[in-house]
Amino acid sequence: MTRLVVRGGLLVRPDRVEAGDLVVEEGRFVAVGGTHRGEGTEVDAGGLVVLPGGVDSHVHLMDPGPTEREDFPTGTAAASARGVTTIVEHTHAHPVRSVTDLRAKLSHLDGRANVDFALAAHLWPEDVAGMGDLWEAGVAFFKLFTCTTHGVPGLAASHLLDAFESLAQMDGRALVHCEDETITETAERRLKQMGRTDPGLLVEWRNREAELAAVAVVGVLALATGAKVTVAHVSNPKVAALIDQLRRLGGDVAAETCPQYLTLRESEVVEHGAFRKFTPPARIVSDLDEETMWALLRDGTFTHLSTDHAPSTVDQKRAGTIWEAPFGLPGLDTTYPFLIDAALSGRLDWTDVARLYAAYPADRYGLAPRKGRLAEGSDADFVLVDPAGSWTVTAADVISKAGWSPFEGRSFRGKVVGTYLRGRPIADEGGPYDLRTGSFLPGAGRR
Ligand SMILES: [Zn+2]
Repeated sequence: MTRLVVRGGLLVRPDRVEAGDLVVEEGRFVAVGGTHRGEGTEVDAGGLVVLPGGVDSHVHLMDPGPTEREDFPTGTAAASARGVTTIVEHTHAHPVRSVTDLRAKLSHLDGRANVDFALAAHLWPEDVAGMGDLWEAGVAFFKLFTCTTHGVPGLAASHLLDAFESLAQMDGRALVHCEDETITETAERRLKQMGRTDPGLLVEWRNREAELAAVAVVGVLALATGAKVTVAHVSNPKVAALIDQLRRLGGDVAAETCPQYLTLRESEVVEHGAFRKFTPPARIVSDLDEETMWALLRDGTFTHLSTDHAPSTVDQKRAGTIWEAPFGLPGLDTTYPFLIDAALSGRLDWTDVARLYAAYPADRYGLAPRKGRLAEGSDADFVLVDPAGSWTVTAADVISKAGWSPFEGRSFRGKVVGTYLRGRPIADEGGPYDLRTGSFLPGAGRR
């Protein structure tokens, strides 16, 4: 029997933080907290903070797909180096639309993952009847779009209604990209008629009203059907306030946000062009906006945080006009360090970090109790953080195929110095080990 004892770290759980030991046997925690003696390999965690392995529920690794942007080995290596041990992945350019697609993807990914992974399915309007089979085959959630984006068709209200009724019946989960198609299309037509090609057009094209209108329809239909729906990448406090109202009326509507909406400014796209092209775009225009977003993260209005990791390389971002450049940012390299910095700077509590980037997404998408917490019986996925360390982000540090980051030049307090997956180290301060020991995690519907 392999036994590991991690001694004397500051253990972070969603409800408390306390010094103690972790004991791992056969890849699972058998004791969390207290002092433990006995046989086994010892790791001295004195002076270190011990976080649960990160659970990132919104990740695009393009594999199979446009692997020149990212692939599973590089994306999951970036994840492992920065403390993320579980991801939920979906790739728009190579979607999972059927059980056959799911099986083909799983067989392709054999031996390509450095962290454990679940997979999401995409929903085309004509595929609603097949949702039950996919859910039972073990997808973690269905990804829906209200606007045609990245080649995935948008769902009109009637299709959303059908999908949500089906979802409620099977107690499934959905992640919905919310931008109203008629509003973005009209804006696009007008901007193109004006001959605009400057990067500043992005925020007029993908405007706030489009996001609000789509969230209103999605939220009301979730409320009407009882479907459990997550609004993806909520960009600003008005959308959060609308979701809060829908919850008060009884809707089960989770709200995801991402680091880019907590810190990047709306105006940055003017200077950085395609390197700030993602949608919805950054919306912060003032310090007050920024403070409000962080307050919503602390008080639970935002239920969890994800990267929306959707990298493309510098050359890909530079090709063509702002209209043609690919959407998306790399995020797996920086998201846990961003949250660790927030805890060490006093913007969040450690317990918030454990809830937002581990416990809540694991619970929401059926990955708990195996994933999401430092808890007896759970997989021994954990991260050692040196609170006295720091990291100034440079392009050279980025392990993702993107090779750049919107956080270049920023200094994060704290440093990830070790990541463990099911009790085995998969990365240390020197980088990822690339062991390819990640395995598939079925969602809650798996029979
Ligand atoms: Zn996404």
